[in-house]
Order: sequence, then structure tokens, then C-alpha cells
Amino acid sequence: MIPAAPRPTQPAAGAPDWKRLWRDAVRDPAELLALLDLAGRVPDLSADAAAQFPLRVPRGFVARMRPGDPHDPLLRQVLPLDAELRPMPGFSLDAVGDGAAKAGAGVIRKYRGRALLIATGSCAIHCRYCFRRHFPYAEETAAAGQWAGAVATIRGDASIDEVLLSGGDPLSLATDKLAELTGPLADVPHLRRLRIHTRLPVVLPERVDAGLLAWLRGLPWPVTVVIHANHAQEFDPAVDAALAGLREAGALLLNQAVLLRGVNDDADALAALSERGHAAGVLPYYLHQLDRVAGAAHFEVDDARALALHAALVARLPGYLVPKLVREVAGDPAKRPLSAPAPHSRG
Ligand SMILES: *Cc1c(COP(=O)(O)O)cnc(C)c1O
Ligand code: SF4
Repeated sequence: MIPAAPRPTQPAAGAPDWKRLWRDAVRDPAELLALLDLAGRVPDLSADAAAQFPLRVPRGFVARMRPGDPHDPLLRQVLPLDAELRPMPGFSLDAVGDGAAKAGAGVIRKYRGRALLIATGSCAIHCRYCFRRHFPYAEETAAAGQWAGAVATIRGDASIDEVLLSGGDPLSLATDKLAELTGPLADVPHLRRLRIHTRLPVVLPERVDAGLLAWLRGLPWPVTVVIHANHAQEFDPAVDAALAGLREAGALLLNQAVLLRGVNDDADALAALSERGHAAGVLPYYLHQLDRVAGAAHFEVDDARALALHAALVARLPGYLVPKLVREVAGDPAKRPLSAPAPHSRG
């Protein structure tokens, strides 16, 4: 039974510090498989793929995987496999045109009114399908001594009314670093909203501690937190508590998911994701068609199936539990809703 109104979180005395849990993440594929009773049972495990983009997964997230199941939907998201190394036409290093949309150090301007700030390149978990797996973070994060430049870019453009903290995962920064960023933004008169794109409340819910919630409560703008969960099984009572804490601090909670073959590409899984999120106080926002990033082709779901799955959700869920099915197209003014291909353009 899922508690409809999880109790607010107060970290218990002696609760593990999130930074320690962060450092303690599983990084060795062999250890991960051993923890799941899968040693020697995943023949397509790839050391070379792990060398390109290392495995990283917090132990609390591993605990939500089903032992003995090599097809577990959480495991599939993090396991480095041979398929990543097969070159695929159409899958490239900068799939979403971020390289062309830079407005200044660590700031990406693609859409009207919104500036996306790459607060950090770090993530607590490494998702194999991630569109930023090849992004040159080391040079590009606003955190690398470049707060001032990013803030000046935002201050100098009165058309920006919303700042999105993104990354990487912006909540991987210590709370005092976040405050160093939002402090100088507080007196920018044209800013009206703050958004935080983060997977941490799901993959390392301990990050949502009393200090983070105090920072959130003190922000001068309405805050939207867009979490990222792809499967209902990613939620557990610790995640519920973290999300309840964020809501109590005044944040509006939305979820974005990526449609992933072998993870969530069936109507039951997608409906369960929306329903489980709702039980935790989160509404679905986007269901993304995969960005065509090199190494992720084996996760792709074709458009016709994606549209059929979306239609199945429309038929069975209340409208507010149906995410928008979109794709990011370089140069477009917004995420593009998927639509049925014109009859004569079918191959
Ligand atoms: C996705 C994205 C946004 C946010 O788009 P919304 O449709 O407002 O959620 C903003 N900037 C960049 C660069 C993005 O990729
Ligand atoms: S940016 Fe998001 S999707 Fe990419 S690795 Fe980090 S948490 Fe995963």
C-alpha cells in the first residue's frame, strides 16, 4: 500500500550524511552484479563501455533493484553493455545542439525567456542513455569559478524570466554553493521563476536534508523541481519522504522521464509511473523520446510505438497524469510534440 500523504521528512539523528552516501556509490560493475546475485550472468557486460562512461549508482538505488533479474528496469539504466560501443548512423556526440546554444560560460539559451545554467557536471548516478554523456563538462560548468559570468549573462538579458538549474545534477553541489549562486540572482529584477532539474530526490533522497529545505524556503521566487524517474520501482518510502519535504518547502513537483526500450516501453509501466508519482505528490511533465546520443541506440523506441504507448495512456489515465510526449530537435523554439508521420513520408 502506498501512503497517499507521506509524512514530512526530518532526518533522524545519526541519519547518514548524503555526501558519505554519494562517495559510497557502487562503481564496480562486478560488485553491482554480485550484490544482485547476477555474477557471471550478464554476458554483454562491457568493461570498455564502463571505461568511456563509468558506472556509478548509489546503494539505496541498488536496493530497489530486483535481485536475480538481469532485465530489472533500474539495472538496465546503469549497466554498461557492449551495445553502447556499436556505432549507429544518426547517433552523435552533441545530439541536442548544446554546442551551438551557449550564451556564455555555463549558460545555455535555447528557448524564449529561459536560461539553463549548467551548475555542475556531477551526478550521483550515471544513466547510460544520458544525452550529456559526451558533454565537455570540465570546461562548461558555471561552477568552475564562473558563477559571476553566468550571473552577468542572466542579469544582462531582461528577456530571461526563468532560470533553470541543471547539469549534471545541480543538487550535487553543497547547499552553501547553491546559495552562492542564488544569492546574486535574488536582486535580478526580471527573474520570476526558478526551476531545478534534478534526479537526486529519486536516486539519493538523503540529499533532501534540513539545510537544503531551508535554502529552498528562503528563495525569493516560486520554485519548480523537475525530478527524473523512469519507472515506478524507483520510488520507495525514502523517496516519498524527500518529495514530501520539497513540497512542504513550497516547491511544485513535476517528473520528466525518458522513453527507454527494455525499461518503461509498455503502457502498464508508464501508467504505473504516473500513478506512483502522483501518490508521492508529483505530476508527469515530459516523456522524452531519446536524444540520439552515441552509445544509447539500443534504448530507442520508434516513433510509431511511442505514439501508440502515449495513446494508451490517454485512454486509461486522467489527463493530468498523461505526460507530453516530446523530442528535442536542435534549432526548434521548444520541445517538439511527437506527431504521426505524414502517410507519404513513411519509409
Ligand atoms: C528542455 C530545456 C529547457 C526547458 O524547456 P521547457 O519546455 O520549459 O521545460 C530550457 N532550456 C534548455 C536548453 C532545454 O534543453
Ligand atoms: S544528467 Fe540526469 S540523466 Fe544524465 S547521468 Fe545525470 S542524472 Fe542521469
